[in-house]
Amino acid sequence: MSISENLEQVRKNIAAAAERAGRSADEITLIAVSKTRTAEEINEAIAAGVTDIGENKPQEVRDKFADVNPVKWHMIGHLQTNKIKYIIDRVCMIHSVDSVHLMDEIDRQAAKHNIIMDILIQVNISGEETKQGCTPEELPDILAHAGGLSNIRVKGLMTIAPKTDNCVTNSLHFDNIRRLFVDISQKKYDNVSMECLSMGMSGDYETAVECGATMVRVGTAVFGARSYSK
Ligand SMILES: *Cc1c(COP(=O)(O)O)cnc(C)c1O
Repeated sequence: MSISENLEQVRKNIAAAAERAGRSADEITLIAVSKTRTAEEINEAIAAGVTDIGENKPQEVRDKFADVNPVKWHMIGHLQTNKIKYIIDRVCMIHSVDSVHLMDEIDRQAAKHNIIMDILIQVNISGEETKQGCTPEELPDILAHAGGLSNIRVKGLMTIAPKTDNCVTNSLHFDNIRRLFVDISQKKYDNVSMECLSMGMSGDYETAVECGATMVRVGTAVFGARSYSK
């Protein structure tokens, strides 16, 4: 299957999941996750209509940026403060902010570039030990902290569900974060708006759409299986 055929299938699946949930497919942004993929492959996806791509390593953004046609870049992976410089003037959104320290550092570097960076707070909703993200209990302090910063804007939440074949389990996690998302939007923190809920990957994006995702991050189902040996 070609990238454009894969994309067509993913878009159909998103539309069907949205319809099952009584939602419009227009509410959902497909982020094609292009980690390990070449600029050429990414350009093929862009030619097939992809508007948003996601990378999980800052170095990949830095290295591919000049060779990729105009598109919105999203930073979706763990970010160390010393790597912010590779992405700060290249991405439109950082999905993986999980501490006030990281938020402060993004704000500082965004100020240097005279930009306002949109960020999502990554929440570890399943309590799995290996996953990045803050706990739901840490969220209020992190959100309150955003009120004092002027070069970031909190636009929503992001989560990664545990790998499982059981879509019922993941829909529980997705429902939980959706509930947090709604709670927060009613609390009115300064500089925080709950517009984006980034959840769902190749194995669970349809479930995520049914549970209210506004952004899905899909790699394998768009580009095929990754090979890390290159
Ligand atoms: C790799 C990755 C994805 C996409 O994973 P697939 O299973 O290939 O769709 C989504 N989100 C994050 C944070 C990732 O690192």
